Amino acid sequence: MKEFSVYDATRACDGIYNGGEAVKGQMVKGVVIDNRKVEDGFLFVPIKGERFDGHDFIGAAYEAGAVCCLSEKKLETQKPYILVKDSLQAYQDIAEFYKGLFGVKMIGITGSVGKTTTKEMVASVLEQQFCVLKTEGNLNNQTGVPQNLLRLLPEHEVAVIEMGTNHFGEIRSLSKMARPDFCFLTNIGQAHIEHLGSREGILKAKSEMLEYMREDGRVFVNGDDEYLWTLKETRSDVTTFGIGTQNDIYTTDIREMGLEGSDFTAHFDGKEMAIHVPSPGRHMIYNALAAIAAGLALCMEPEKIARGIAGYTPISGRMCIEKANGLTVLNDVYNANPGSMKAAIDVLSYAKGRKVCVLGDMFELGDKAEEYHRQVGSYAAKKGIDEILCVGELAKGIYDGASERCGNASYFKTQNELLEKIEGHIHSGDTVLVKASRGMKLEKTVEYLLH
Ligand code: ATP
Ligand code: MG
Repeated sequence: MKEFSVYDATRACDGIYNGGEAVKGQMVKGVVIDNRKVEDGFLFVPIKGERFDGHDFIGAAYEAGAVCCLSEKKLETQKPYILVKDSLQAYQDIAEFYKGLFGVKMIGITGSVGKTTTKEMVASVLEQQFCVLKTEGNLNNQTGVPQNLLRLLPEHEVAVIEMGTNHFGEIRSLSKMARPDFCFLTNIGQAHIEHLGSREGILKAKSEMLEYMREDGRVFVNGDDEYLWTLKETRSDVTTFGIGTQNDIYTTDIREMGLEGSDFTAHFDGKEMAIHVPSPGRHMIYNALAAIAAGLALCMEPEKIARGIAGYTPISGRMCIEKANGLTVLNDVYNANPGSMKAAIDVLSYAKGRKVCVLGDMFELGDKAEEYHRQVGSYAAKKGIDEILCVGELAKGIYDGASERCGNASYFKTQNELLEKIEGHIHSGDTVLVKASRGMKLEKTVEYLLH
């Protein structure tokens, strides 16, 4: 990390420094919220979580070599510490200060679904030309974003930062820290509708990112999304991408090639380029278009952009295609909501041979949860999926929706019950999609099928 002084940290978070003058000028070599990650010269930030209070580990942090700690309460210690009102806020303030030390181009990505996939695709393109910092895994929340910003190094030219939210105000504070040059909005779906009320509410929450965009920044949105299209009508700094030809960056000649991915021609500024996306599903075309938009915004040559997209590799649990025991498993267990469930069913429908899906509960859908589950079931039946295996309490809705449409559906209350009976439903040569919300832990089913 680029070092800064304890004094700088104190000022950045508007804290009150307690301790000797000598330490004030000492350099901070790292900032962490997990005391097990403290090394010599680190600043430890204790955060109150649901199960633990980081303040209980301040002693351990000093023992591990912390040069200083933050604290929300006065400490009976001779060691130096910075008294703050709210240590999460202070952590974010320090991350904001730290980001400000760099001239890096900042790309912020938010949206209902496809943030991580878009982030990976954008990074895959930009890495063809630039030294890129990207969000690690899915660390997109109030502690994850500062954690990623604090990984910035002087050699980074571009940062691609994912921002997630389920409450109003959250994206605003993430954007304040990151100060994006380019804001990407993937789509406005139903995810987190429970807290945000409606799709209008979701658009409002995601648009908070634009409040802290740099003045000369640009906004990039999926223009096929009717809610995001409204931004184009109200602002002059919006570039849209999508399949529809009304978009600034659009596609023609889409050839979906089953599980191999898809080919298309991308059009921009009166020019065109041939693109191969090595991952199946129409939604991947949108993620690729976002990456094209990012590459063009940074003045990359079309050949390099195309190479970056062709080189994309999916990350674990997000539509990874895995083969064993005569089965092709579409491992999409990372998460689910109605939009991504339907997208995954579309991908499964391209498979040759028998198609089976194991679909589990989708959480955080609010009052309409049952209806959304039903819709997914009926969609799978309409798409001609040969066997629809529904697992979990809420998945009863998927079963009901599929049965209503004469789908071949079976219901299992728990994953264990499913695993006891799954042999009878799956045959060698089948392609099996496995997908549910994270909490369902369907990776156990994937493991069972592959080992
Ligand atoms: P989270 O809110 O958990 O961070 P996310 O927005 O990062 O989710 P991803 O992890 O990228 O979303 O994708 C989740 C799933 O959504 C993928 O497994 C895929 O099936 C589907 N998906 C990916 N991109 C899109 C897209 N552009 N539109 C719709 N569905 C998508
Ligand atoms: Mg994500």
